[in-house]
Amino acid sequence: MTTYWCERALVEPSVLVNGLVVDVRGARIEATSVAPTAPAGAVRLPGLTIAGFANCHSHAFHRALRGRTQQASAGSFWSWRDAMYDVAARLDPDSYYQLAFAAYAEMALAGITAVGEFHYVHHDPAGGRYADPNAMGLAVVAAARDAGLRIALLDTCYLSSGFGAPPLGAQVRFSDGTVDEWAARAGALSAGGDAGVVIGSAIHSVRAVAREDLGVVAALRPAAPVHVHLSEQVAENQACLTRHGCTPARLLRDSGALDSRTTAVHATHLTGDDIADVGKAGGFVAFCPTTERDLADGVGPARELAVAGAALTLGSDSHAVIDICEEMRAVELDTRLVTSRRGTWAGAELLDAATETGQRSLGFSDAGRLVAGQWADLVTFDLESPRTAGTGGGIDSVVYAATAADITSVVASGAEVELDRGGVGRRLAAAVAGVTEQP
Ligand SMILES: [Zn+2]
Repeated sequence: MTTYWCERALVEPSVLVNGLVVDVRGARIEATSVAPTAPAGAVRLPGLTIAGFANCHSHAFHRALRGRTQQASAGSFWSWRDAMYDVAARLDPDSYYQLAFAAYAEMALAGITAVGEFHYVHHDPAGGRYADPNAMGLAVVAAARDAGLRIALLDTCYLSSGFGAPPLGAQVRFSDGTVDEWAARAGALSAGGDAGVVIGSAIHSVRAVAREDLGVVAALRPAAPVHVHLSEQVAENQACLTRHGCTPARLLRDSGALDSRTTAVHATHLTGDDIADVGKAGGFVAFCPTTERDLADGVGPARELAVAGAALTLGSDSHAVIDICEEMRAVELDTRLVTSRRGTWAGAELLDAATETGQRSLGFSDAGRLVAGQWADLVTFDLESPRTAGTGGGIDSVVYAATAADITSVVASGAEVELDRGGVGRRLAAAVAGVTEQP
């Protein structure tokens, strides 16, 4: 057993404790108590300790695009997507593992202890099957576990370049051909008895999966998370209206693909009826503000969705930034820009989205609090850095002042993460070079 003594701790987002003793056995918190000074033998954690972050929407390989698409792919989401496909076309199970491992190592440095990987690069570049048809998915699972993260592998059904049109270019390696072939391959995936792995499903979008197949994807694993990109772009809504005579959210609802297990990712361009449908389902929405601003997507109706009944979670998606502090405050700050009002979201709500609610949306319902029985995730922020000094040392220091660079200790699933920022930087540089430089 390892005992930690947290100088200050947010046991849950609105409960701040001075001197929290946390006994960790294996991957779990065994007990907590309060003591004004560190007990003998305890590992001291000066600063403010919180539970681990959940990064609920990740495409690990997009990390290779950071800083490389700002001018060359200027224009729109769609021109950026071409650059993304160039990287997707160059991945194999080994390079995918290397890149995902490096991206997940960056996440671990940022206090992320669980990731939802929205995984769709399934097959070889010509669309052929690897010897193990799940070689790519297994590569990302291994990468996450080796980096110290729990993972929800959201095996993604992607069958069409748009409303029935065949896959094009890099998309051929995303497609299983038919929904039944997707289900056969994805259905063979297993967590292998590892409690740190959840196997879930994803619908890439209503562009990529036909109306009659949406419910099939959602039904493959009836108790597991189901994630779906929803209305990130106005063009998707327009095409859906033309094709199906309804919005993407209504199509999902009427196909049985919107329920309490569902996470609607982005949910940016919604009608009032869409907001009601998503809220009534009682599931989750995953906002990814740093990606949504990078891709010129827009600002989604986060508060309206929450009022309607959808629980907010957060993700770094394309990994233009990997810093959940930035995602948390962006939800509120972006809302200020479009409403001219401050204070739509309380810091505690944003931290809850980034921790307990996010973990639950990925299938880790026993994480996100510093209490006995939970996964032992302890993330400690320096309260004396140039950014955090003098900010009060409470929740708003994390939500509005800190960055990932202020994290001084990470315990993920009971294991201490080595905060080797230089080593992770070198690993990222090598992994990105492996999929971007000419051979
Ligand atoms: Zn995405």
